[in-house]
Amino acid sequence: MATLSFRNVTKTYPNGVAVIHGIDMEVADGEFIVIVGPSGCGKSTLMRMVAGLESITGGEIAIGGKVVNELEPAERDIAMVFQNYALYPHMSVYQNMAYGLKIRKLGKAQIDEKVQDAARILELSQLLDRRPGQLSGGQRQRVAMGRAIVRDPKVFLFDEPLSNLDAKLRVQMRLEIQKLHRRLGTTSLYVTHDQVEAMTLAQRMVVMNKGIPEQIGTPVEVFDKP
Ligand code: ADP
Ligand code: ADP
Repeated sequence: MATLSFRNVTKTYPNGVAVIHGIDMEVADGEFIVIVGPSGCGKSTLMRMVAGLESITGGEIAIGGKVVNELEPAERDIAMVFQNYALYPHMSVYQNMAYGLKIRKLGKAQIDEKVQDAARILELSQLLDRRPGQLSGGQRQRVAMGRAIVRDPKVFLFDEPLSNLDAKLRVQMRLEIQKLHRRLGTTSLYVTHDQVEAMTLAQRMVVMNKGIPEQIGTPVEVFDKP
């Protein structure tokens, strides 16, 4: 079953510049898709359209069979992980992870269960009372992922989540993301510039160029082509 589908999706910015020229793609339930391509080819625009941060000017995006073109970000059942994880500095790790659930008016017990589960998965249980300033870069990135997984979304959107980390931490977090996907099986779209990241994480890759997917296939299919 397709969790996420794109039907002739296009984007023209208000200044009249067309940057996405028609994307047709079905993402299967649980699939991990990596999107690569040169700077300016439309990767961020595409992710932002899925997230609801940018309007869709043509075609349709559906999540879980429901067209989301007109839905607010909070109604789309997605969660995003950015490179700038933007944690609230004055809140504890616990509060950072609980915040999104609190504004959705979940009960305290339910919030607590979700936060404690996520903390266990991400090995943050001992750090729940710390503030972001008292954490390492990798720990902060894990909190950002925790904030995404407590929402139990249909789709994860990763927009170059590791590009601000040093090389060693990037490798470590890449393995964490892989482990997380094996465990939760959440359908994921992941944008990166890093070829190793793409090769190791992707079940399928989308190679974008000038606003269209030039190739879609497994890493082996994509990299074997001349
Ligand atoms: P990528 O993420 O692949 O680097 P982007 O999606 O950021 O590409 O950008 C795709 C194209 O859209 C670029 O040419 C960029 O200049 C243009 N663009 C991005 N945001 C806007 C905007 N708000 N208004 C007009 N053009 C934009
Ligand atoms: P607020 O006062 O803004 O509601 P709190 O930080 O007091 O937020 O936390 C709300 C609830 O979350 C607490 O009653 C407690 O049950 C739970 N909580 C907060 N921090 C932790 C923690 N480190 N471990 C377990 N539960 C926590």
